[in-house]
Amino acid sequence: MSTVCDIHCHFFSSRFLEILVANDRRNLPAAEHATVIAGLLGWDPPSTPEQLADRWVKELDLHGVSRAALIASIPGDEDSVALAVAKHPSRFVGFFMFDPTSPEPQRRLARALGELKLRGVALFPAMHKYRLDDDRVDAVFKAAQEHQAVVFAHCGVLTVGVRKKLGLASPFDLRLGDPLSLSAVASRYPRVPVIIPHFGAGFMREALMAADQCPNIHLDTSSSNSWMKYYPGLTLDAVFRQAVQVAGADRLLFGTDSSFFPRGWQRPIHEAQLRAMDAAGVDVKAREKILAGNFERLLPLKP
Ligand SMILES: [Zn+2]
Repeated sequence: MSTVCDIHCHFFSSRFLEILVANDRRNLPAAEHATVIAGLLGWDPPSTPEQLADRWVKELDLHGVSRAALIASIPGDEDSVALAVAKHPSRFVGFFMFDPTSPEPQRRLARALGELKLRGVALFPAMHKYRLDDDRVDAVFKAAQEHQAVVFAHCGVLTVGVRKKLGLASPFDLRLGDPLSLSAVASRYPRVPVIIPHFGAGFMREALMAADQCPNIHLDTSSSNSWMKYYPGLTLDAVFRQAVQVAGADRLLFGTDSSFFPRGWQRPIHEAQLRAMDAAGVDVKAREKILAGNFERLLPLKP
């Protein structure tokens, strides 16, 4: 089996669950501890970051995945992912959700990308309500350039399964997730790799336009890509064919969007994408780049 790297996994730590609920306490007054919240969700308790990291490594071994990007999926949970990466530096790279509108952005960025050695800033403009062409996003790119990090920008539809399951409100402004508003800032920082997940999650045309304009814009293939329902008759094979044609195989990164246990690594997503690449006539060389080569190029192992 050829090498596989996964650019999109969420590290749902104990602290992640606790911050999530603390931010919206009125809905779940009794659930203060991660174990209780995990129970409500039907998840295995995440335990400590180190234990969760070990579980992830076992899971990746089981499925033959060599490396994965783990995303700290709520602001304030950077330390959990940093601990996971420190324990298994050859298997994980750390990304972190960052809100550029929060206080002291420079200090937070410097700490996460410097001291904590995380390697990707994950932006969710629809969730945190800012424009991608805002000066505060420019400052994120500047920090990413200084630290040789990547910028991950979630565009398009945004559904956060865990919020839905817990009954937390999701007042996201989807208009703010337009990939076209990334092209100017991405052009100003040509050495900063940008990753737009899920082929733009509904904004595929805009994501491809932005990628066509900026050679540093990449797309990830992760999740079930259920946004395809907004396009009549669209299939995953057609998505791959079009993305390879416009952005090229060098700018597509395989991902699953795996997150919690016991579900673990989402093998069916991998299988569906392999079938789609077959049907789309993606050749062996291109497939290797998508599945692992581009990940290794953008996020090489650090000595
Ligand atoms: Zn995700």
